Amino acid sequence: MWGWLRRRRSAPALPDDLWRATLARYPFLADRSVDERAKLRALSAEFLAQKQFHGAGGLVISDEIALAIAAQAVLPVLHLGLRWYDDFVGIVVHPEEVVARRSATDETGVVHAWDEVVAGEAMQGGPVMVNWRDVAAAGESAETGFNVVIHEFVHKIDLRDGVADGCPPLKSRAGRERWLATMQAEYERFREAVIRAERFGEDWPWLDDYGATSIDEFFAVACEAYFVNRARFAQEFPALLALFDEFYRAVR
Ligand SMILES: [Zn+2]
Repeated sequence: MWGWLRRRRSAPALPDDLWRATLARYPFLADRSVDERAKLRALSAEFLAQKQFHGAGGLVISDEIALAIAAQAVLPVLHLGLRWYDDFVGIVVHPEEVVARRSATDETGVVHAWDEVVAGEAMQGGPVMVNWRDVAAAGESAETGFNVVIHEFVHKIDLRDGVADGCPPLKSRAGRERWLATMQAEYERFREAVIRAERFGEDWPWLDDYGATSIDEFFAVACEAYFVNRARFAQEFPALLALFDEFYRAVR
């Protein structure tokens, strides 16, 4: 019943001044074509009507915070459509990065526990978590290709078929094979560059080295850069640019 109500609840109109302030804060949104900006605004309003924001750690969710997150979250699904995000409603916003307690059991049965500083988190079928400090700074950090909102929402797109493998659900098996082959080759090239920087003091690659963790993290990190700094991304990853354009820009 709630799903039905949510789908039918009409999207609120976004006040002009609030929308203009959001575009001013995030040049990678303002730089879009007139058509894309109109679509972005409409989709952001729909997103706000469908999702529920929760402030954590004393953070109070303002219109500014909610719209900043909505406008960046819908960028990857501008052409795909909001149904790609229909497996969850909650968005948790922390004031800043959070320390998460992790544990894992190794093959000898020993449990290892450690603390990890996380900027955000996305789980299949569960809420998305981001932190306001990084979201607020996303205009400036676009230079480095960093964007926490896009990162977490791209994980959601990747996870739609149930597996975090750096490949979203695609229409054909051949498409999936081609996608995985391209991603794997680029991931290995990137990992080797990170290893050369670590071990031999070579220049660090432009992209966030967190992308060298695993192929699904590489996908999320590469997409951040693809959406917020297309010019630099095109120079660094021409093969991925073509692959991502085919997927994200296809008219459906
Ligand atoms: Zn991630």
